[in-house]
Amino acid sequence: MSFSRDFSPGPASPTNKYDRIRRYLRQEGAPDFRYRQVVQAIFRDRIGRFSQMAALPRSLREDLAGRFSDDVSGLSRVASRHSEQAEKVLYGLPDGKRVEAVALNFQAGWESFCISSQSGCGFGCSFCATGRLGLLRNMSADEITDQLLDFHLHGRTIDSVSFMGMGEALSNLHTFEAIRLMMRPDLFALSPRRITVSTIGIVPQMERLARELPQVNLTLSLHSPFDEQRTAMMPINRKYPIAELMQALDHHVRSTGRKAYVAYVLIAGVNDTDEHARALAHLVKARFRQGRLLHVSLIRFNEVAAAPAAFARIDTSGARRFADLLRQHGVRATIRASFGNDIDAACRQLFANYQPGTSGRPP
Ligand code: SF4
Repeated sequence: MSFSRDFSPGPASPTNKYDRIRRYLRQEGAPDFRYRQVVQAIFRDRIGRFSQMAALPRSLREDLAGRFSDDVSGLSRVASRHSEQAEKVLYGLPDGKRVEAVALNFQAGWESFCISSQSGCGFGCSFCATGRLGLLRNMSADEITDQLLDFHLHGRTIDSVSFMGMGEALSNLHTFEAIRLMMRPDLFALSPRRITVSTIGIVPQMERLARELPQVNLTLSLHSPFDEQRTAMMPINRKYPIAELMQALDHHVRSTGRKAYVAYVLIAGVNDTDEHARALAHLVKARFRQGRLLHVSLIRFNEVAAAPAAFARIDTSGARRFADLLRQHGVRATIRASFGNDIDAACRQLFANYQPGTSGRPP
């Protein structure tokens, strides 16, 4: 059987596999309900192979498997690791590149998924394992959503999704189509309010997100209130310095009327001083409506092999002290629950086990 023949878009093709399947069925003269049967098989019955879609005539199953691929998902599971509350999966893309995604189970029964948008990343943030790889390539909208599809086919319930895996989501324009696929009622049917885009601050794309997908949550990764330090930690700050980012955040909040998040990775001895807390509070309070629509999400740095040796995890009391200082200045702040450290599945640990400077493939 030939695989993946029509899962990659041609010049005039729809840019996602679901629309290509629908177009193919129409071209073959199949009635419209056949497409509904296909997506119901995938999304209602969790059937990931055309050959097993019993609702379809055998000849059509064979046609679809031959035309596309028997596997609806284009990703292969290369490895997975489990802990009590997290599962990290390493996926192979069709060209052999690798990406990772994490499923997080909250005790309340909620399942949240942290997905990748790029294989590797070219932004080189100093605290991030993925950044040490460089950008290998952008993922397509199908590949991005296939991470969720794979979890779904393995029996998971997709309650919420965040783009906090590998890559900078807003530097890959396929992210926008991927979000639209997640929201489509015939497919993943996710509310945009259950989708969070995390960005280091690609200002023009933040504006596009507010314009085109205003209900999607936005998290800006700030990590320092001081330009000089932020530039050292996140080179993108040279292009979009803090003042410009905060204006973009204001614009987002004003135009969407929704709360936005400021993520701040606390690194012991680096950005956790009282001076940092006060300066961060000042930045937030200077925003639209005194920053009441901003929420600071503090994340305890997870030590990764690729990070500088001077970067260390802050202890719980240090994180609490920082959060209290922000609150004393009237800023809403919480310390994000962090789990998955034991399997390197926490924020910015993805790809931590890979050797930096290599092709990005596991050793
Ligand atoms: Fe890329 Fe995000 Fe890592 Fe920065 S933090 S290197 S943008 S994946």
